[in-house]
Amino acid sequence: MTPLRIAIVGYGTAGQAAAVLLARDGHRVEVFERAPEPGPVGAGFLLQPTGLQVLWRMELLGAVLSHGARVDRLYGDTPCGRAVMDMRYAGLDPRLCGIGMQRGALFSILDQARAESVQLHAGVTIEGPDDADDRWLRATGGARYGPFDLVLAADGAASRLRARIGRVRRDAVYPWGALWCLLDARDWPHPAELRQRYVAARRMIGLLPVGTRPGDATPRLSFFWSLPVAAFDGWQAAALEDWRDTVTSLWPEASALLATTTTHAQLAGATYRDVSLGQWHRGRWVLLGDAAHAMSPQLGQGVNMALLDAEALRDALRAEALPDALATYARVRRRHVAMYQFWSRWLTPVFQSERDLIAKARDVAFQPMGRLPGGRGHMLRVLSGTQHGVFGSLALAPAFVDALGGFRTAGVSTK
Ligand SMILES: Cc1cc2nc3c(=O)[nH]c(=O)nc-3n(C[C@H](O)[C@H](O)[C@H](O)COP(=O)(O)OP(=O)(O)OC[C@H]3O[C@@H](n4cnc5c(N)ncnc54)[C@H](O)[C@@H]3O)c2cc1C
Repeated sequence: MTPLRIAIVGYGTAGQAAAVLLARDGHRVEVFERAPEPGPVGAGFLLQPTGLQVLWRMELLGAVLSHGARVDRLYGDTPCGRAVMDMRYAGLDPRLCGIGMQRGALFSILDQARAESVQLHAGVTIEGPDDADDRWLRATGGARYGPFDLVLAADGAASRLRARIGRVRRDAVYPWGALWCLLDARDWPHPAELRQRYVAARRMIGLLPVGTRPGDATPRLSFFWSLPVAAFDGWQAAALEDWRDTVTSLWPEASALLATTTTHAQLAGATYRDVSLGQWHRGRWVLLGDAAHAMSPQLGQGVNMALLDAEALRDALRAEALPDALATYARVRRRHVAMYQFWSRWLTPVFQSERDLIAKARDVAFQPMGRLPGGRGHMLRVLSGTQHGVFGSLALAPAFVDALGGFRTAGVSTK
């Protein structure tokens, strides 16, 4: 394999994982990140077995498990106690689970794994390829960087490079987003479950155990509150007390957790996009992560997809020379991603919209659908990230499944 000179635009999960993997293969890697002080944005997320397996192969699973929280069950109900969703990873394999993580924890773990040879240019915003020669990057302010043999565009959901590289079929902001924050887990009675509460599809509250992060040993929960993007400003302008009273009335059990949430600034707003591309690469430029396939976080797959993208690109570069390697990478990943784009597009309005009839049908039918022959297995494979195409599944190595099966969050007993 000829060592390449590789530029990575964006130091989110996709860019971080690609930087670690490609430098380990002997490539000369430089990263360009627009944030002057690169760091995590947002609260926490759920790592699925697919993403965890990539981290296991990167020999980072131990570090991940030392901070993450084991999540065995996804449970959602209404304020009157009707269970809408109840899925356990054990339905696929008793050893499987998800891992809730703080964004800051995964960021630190991947950052520490970055080889010293990888140069990180912080505070540099890349505008696109140089018009005359795509081996060069053009930055805001007129600076040029290069020449590079390969450029990875991992600049996230609102990518400005996407339209220069891919053939955009769809790029739309969802009308609903969410407010997020980290809370002290205290004595939360569901330490191994993602818990959600729904009122039709107009209200959704979630609490996900996300463990600790380097430098902070307090176990935390990632809290989210769904609301239309058009209502963000109204929420900011209204009294926080009133909003907390609403949360308490819908979910009394969660009320005490919000006792220290006293200002609007403690919650961050997030919007999501639905992106689908007819082409993931052009010339020596290729898209990774949300830049290639942003979707709503309803299925909790984006970080996992970013890790899988980085590994698939590394593997393609090991097997083939450019440009064939890029075509192979795109083909492999598009097949996996397509099913998730389909499901997240359909499921998002079922959980976040004003469509009360659809929500009623969801409350009645979601659980029974999972009991249909093949239904539960399919739902669990989609959840765990292992569904591949319509009928296939991504293989999980037995040694990895064993490693995950032995993990318990410190101080937490699971049923
Ligand atoms: C509310 C919410 C909840 C989520 N929950 C989950 C979950 O539970 N599980 C899960 O797997 N996923 C979840 N996701 C999705 C997940 O966060 C994303 O899919 C993932 O972070 C994408 O990683 P990325 O590296 O592609 O992009 P990002 O993490 O967005 O990184 C992009 C980086 O590029 C930089 N950048 C952008 N433009 C430029 C430029 N022009 N030049 C230089 N740098 C640039 C940015 O500053 C950023 O650092 C959630 C997303 C949201 C919004």
